[in-house]
Amino acid sequence: MSKRKQSVGPNLNALARKLVDPAARVEELRDLIRRHEHAYYVLDSPEISDAGYDALFLELRRIEEERPSLLTPDSPTQRVGGEASDQFAKVRHRSPMLSLQNAFDEAEIRAFDKRVRAAIGDKVTYCAELKIDGLAINLTYSKGRLERAATRGDGTVGEDVTANVRTIRSVPLTITPSKGLPDGFEVRGEVYFPIAAFEKLNREVEASGRQRYVNPRNTAAGSVRQIDPNVTASRDLQTFMYTLDPAGQSRSQWEVLGTLEKMGFRVNKHRRRLNSIEEVIEYHAEWQRRRHELEHEIDGVVIKVDDFAQQLELGFVARSPRWAIAFKYAPEEAETEVEEIACYVGRTGVLTPVAHVKPVVVGGVTIRNITMHNEAQVNEKGVYVGARVVIHRAGDVIPEIVSVKEPRPGWKMPAKCPVCGGEVVREEPYIAHRCINPFCSAQRLERLRHFASRGALNIEGLGYATLNQVIERGWVEDPSDLYRLTKDQVVQLDGFAEKSGQNLVDRISESRRPQLGRFLYALGIPQVGEATADLLAADFSNIEKLGSATEDGLMKVEGIGPNMAREIHLYFQGHGGELVAKLLSAGIEPQAVEAPGEGPLTGKTFVFTGTLETMSRPDAEALVRRLGGKAGSTVSSKTNYVVAGPGAGTKLEKAQKLKVAVLDEEQFLALVPK
Ligand code: NAD
Repeated sequence: MSKRKQSVGPNLNALARKLVDPAARVEELRDLIRRHEHAYYVLDSPEISDAGYDALFLELRRIEEERPSLLTPDSPTQRVGGEASDQFAKVRHRSPMLSLQNAFDEAEIRAFDKRVRAAIGDKVTYCAELKIDGLAINLTYSKGRLERAATRGDGTVGEDVTANVRTIRSVPLTITPSKGLPDGFEVRGEVYFPIAAFEKLNREVEASGRQRYVNPRNTAAGSVRQIDPNVTASRDLQTFMYTLDPAGQSRSQWEVLGTLEKMGFRVNKHRRRLNSIEEVIEYHAEWQRRRHELEHEIDGVVIKVDDFAQQLELGFVARSPRWAIAFKYAPEEAETEVEEIACYVGRTGVLTPVAHVKPVVVGGVTIRNITMHNEAQVNEKGVYVGARVVIHRAGDVIPEIVSVKEPRPGWKMPAKCPVCGGEVVREEPYIAHRCINPFCSAQRLERLRHFASRGALNIEGLGYATLNQVIERGWVEDPSDLYRLTKDQVVQLDGFAEKSGQNLVDRISESRRPQLGRFLYALGIPQVGEATADLLAADFSNIEKLGSATEDGLMKVEGIGPNMAREIHLYFQGHGGELVAKLLSAGIEPQAVEAPGEGPLTGKTFVFTGTLETMSRPDAEALVRRLGGKAGSTVSSKTNYVVAGPGAGTKLEKAQKLKVAVLDEEQFLALVPK
């Protein structure tokens, strides 16, 4: 592309912007930014890329700088991004948790250096750190013990996520404070999802037929903001700490990092002290090259004036300190060509289009395939075989097509299944196309893999490679055949010897007494995920009763509507019923959830929300059942009591709306006989 051509785009954009009334554009930008901030910070589910959001933010800031009369205190440029969700108790930070100014290129970072030197003179040392792409966390310690953990929220008020953060192993629960620190102080830093742990989670999620998580940053935020701390505990989150407030005897950021390390916090080792802006630019470039050596994502580097006395002199602007700046990396993009659009068949027969592209390196990783979810998505982007496309790795992990050079909608799903040749249909109201042949071999493989996956029967060692072999040899057609596999057969497979063969046979055999909920989930009934499977298991204490339930009977279960009831009913009337009979005759004995006995809570339904102090939520639910009551997961007019602990959210609101009695933990325990 010629230089001249390159400059046309931005100029046209600028012209277009001038034609729009700036006041109206400012309002429009603020609305858009607020909507995206809510999706990102509160729902952990962004609708646009970070670069897209940053562009909107920059545009707003520029207009406000040009026309200060348009600036209002409630503008997103004046506030720290998030807001505290009502799901958690709110916590006021000792001092505000601010955001950072951003620089996207060398000119902006040099301008920052100039401003700093103009204010405090030429003797400046910078403390340079990696900008960890996670979520900010504030730990309050009191007399050497972790008292509270809070998210940043709107910078002034955050969310109390103590129960969850306590499960992160690198967060010390007790510490020896360094000299000069008062009894109470705060330590701040970042919680993040290591890339390997994130990929492992996604493999598990995929194996059980659920949607992949989009990127480590939002998944880390979602994991910390869970109602159930057990979920956080299962996520392998990590931390790096970088702020100590008050700083005790430390006189600089560099000293604080050393102090934190000595106190037992995890501190990033790639920090450096730099004396010139040239060195800062080099540090930034070095980590741009090396970022893929790290076990976590970074979205830039952070430069802080090291000396605290100088920081004090520089002070703050509305949402960020004047003494620090984030020097960000541009999202990594590359251009390539689509060679083929293939379709993969999942366990329920859903066809997923995947673009095979000419291999191209984006951010250190070679990309060959890009998943596009459904026909509508392919056509919204206008992707076709031969298209030149720009791709990036969303959140730097999942490759995505950002744009198509000459978009051409009109791509169609094949009418026949690419694996078995069966008929492909799209059933309203679903967007997805499905192969409806129940004997399709691709579906069979995925169904077996799902049956053995972690949320289902959890048979370790039964991955795709092994399943492919047992299917090819004709030993296994459906899950009931797994229980007939012998050690003599397994040792004939690639990757197995005497001991490992016996282990696999043992593990399959040990899976014979699953909980009913897991068993139902393992069957892969359309639309029945883990939560629905548990609801069904709680209501129908055995598989025979469930198998013969009518649609009306199924709809009596909380949370099951007519569509789902129809799918479940159809499943048991058809091949599903046959499979269940085969599994039972292969010796599977699904274990019913304990039927409520007679007791002091007979006839009463409880729903728990928020955190309990003296027991976990599953234990409290089991206690209710032991005492004859029912433990539900959704609040309805049939609920007798909602037990609400810290962090209670929408369920509490619903209880108040429906005038259901709300108990705190103490009142609940008072109902329990000693
Ligand atoms: P920021 O992430 O750009 O910078 C401030 C944050 O950096 C701090 O709060 C801290 O958590 C973090 N940080 C990481 N390492 C640090 C270190 N060594 N020292 C100090 N701080 C460190 O600013 P922000 O206000 O948190 O959020 C803006 C970010 O969120 C942008 O990247 C933006 O693109 C993204 N965002 C995206 C959307 C979207 O819809 N995609 C919406 C809102 C925000």
